[in-house]
This record gives sequence, structure tokens and C-alpha cells, in this order.
Amino acid sequence: MSAGPDGGGAPADRAAQLRERLAAVRGRVDAAARAAGRDPGELTLVVVTKHFPAGDVLELVGLGVGDVGENRDQEAAAKAADVAARLGSAAPRWHFVGQLQTNKARSVARYASAVHSVDRARLVGALDRAAQDAQRRLEVFLQVDLAPALGHDADPGRGGAPAADVPALAEAVAAADALRLAGLMAVAPRDADPARAFAVLHELSLALRREHPSATGLSAGMSGDLEQAVAAGATHLRVGSAVLGPRPAPR
Ligand SMILES: *Cc1c(COP(=O)(O)O)cnc(C)c1O
Repeated sequence: MSAGPDGGGAPADRAAQLRERLAAVRGRVDAAARAAGRDPGELTLVVVTKHFPAGDVLELVGLGVGDVGENRDQEAAAKAADVAARLGSAAPRWHFVGQLQTNKARSVARYASAVHSVDRARLVGALDRAAQDAQRRLEVFLQVDLAPALGHDADPGRGGAPAADVPALAEAVAAADALRLAGLMAVAPRDADPARAFAVLHELSLALRREHPSATGLSAGMSGDLEQAVAAGATHLRVGSAVLGPRPAPR
């Protein structure tokens, strides 16, 4: 495939599009950090590439992206293998951000550096065994369901543990040989004010850090609410469509 003079969707156009959108998102992140009196250098932008091809990941790595996110194991495993074959040790870190079935832990532990969506004890055990067998170490974010704390109905499609489960889950991760407790993750509930949602998450993070001082990570903020997340202390922003454009149907 080559980029024709007016070839919409041709590779050269796509590269330019990704470069512009990524620059715009980086601009938003920097502005949000400045507004919050924070150092942009303490923020990790995880570009969520789900439903987009490995070629887009290669372009993003060329633009300096070192962290990419995926939410389905089957798609992520294939893409990570593809990218690793092309880039070797220059491959980005893969962050698994979607709901994860226990029987996929073994696969995810082979390519992921971090799992942001750990929300139950069985998954902690499965990931620990899988990471040990793969002789790898996984960063773990505990995903919290913020809906109850905000007076919203639970949103079963999105996963997340009740806030009351966090202390026990954190103990389990801290005791697991191949896992490192990175911190907390949440998605702002639909129809909730993201600033309020992330303020609740920040409070939970402060409570977690009293028991686990090194668990300083806070994975929060997507394309539509990254500013509110940065203001509330997010360290990892998971941004998809603002960089890649509207998602095509899952393949
Ligand atoms: C898809 C996804 C994102 C990115 O969402 P955008 O709105 O496209 O930025 C972030 N977090 C999770 C858990 C996702 O599944």
C-alpha cells in the first residue's frame, strides 16, 4: 500500500493524523498539569490502541509513545507479538485495562507489564501464578467501582471492586511474589461528575497509601475527562479515541 495523492486512510495520512492528535493530547496533559501545579513528567500517558491495528502502535512508538493499553486478551496478544517481532527491545510496555477472565491470566502475563483492572482475589492468585511461570513481574492496579460511593447504580459492564474490598485485595497483591501493587484505577461512572468521581478515588488512594506507601499510582482519566483526573492526582492517563480517532468495530 502506498499513499496516493488523495488516498484517504493511506499510511502517510494516518501517520500525520496520529502525530497531530497525539500532540494535541500531550498539550492537554501539559496544560492540565500546569493548572494543577504538577510536573507533567510524573504523568504516564497510556495510549489505548484497542480495535486499532499493530501498524498504529508502530507509528505511535515512532512518536515517542512508550505505553499502550488494550482491553481484550485475544486482540492484545496478537498485536503484542506482531509489534515485538518488528521492534524487539524497542517495543512499548503493554497495559491491560479491560475486564479480565481468570483463564486469560496466563496469556496476559506473557506480554503485559501492568494490569489496571484487578478487582477480585481469584484474579490476584491467577496473575501471580501466571507471572511466576512466565518469570515476569506484573504491576497491578486495583480497579474500584466508584458508582456506589457516588450514589449511582452499579455498572456491571465496567468491572471494579467495591471500595470496601480494596484493603484485602491490596494485602493479597502485596503478599504475591510476582506482583507489585502499583495503586488504584477507576473509570468515572457514566452520568457522574468526573471531578467528584476522581476526588473519591483520590481519597481511597490516600487511605491505601497509609498501609502501602509505595502504591502511589492512580490510573484515571480518559479522552473526555483527563483534565479532571490530572487535577485529582492521576499518575496514569488511559487515552484512546482522542489520539486514534473513533474506534472501528471490534475485529
Ligand atoms: C477504551 C478504554 C479507555 C480509553 O477510552 P477513550 O474514551 O477512547 O479515551 C480507557 N480506559 C479503559 C478501561 C478503556 O476500556
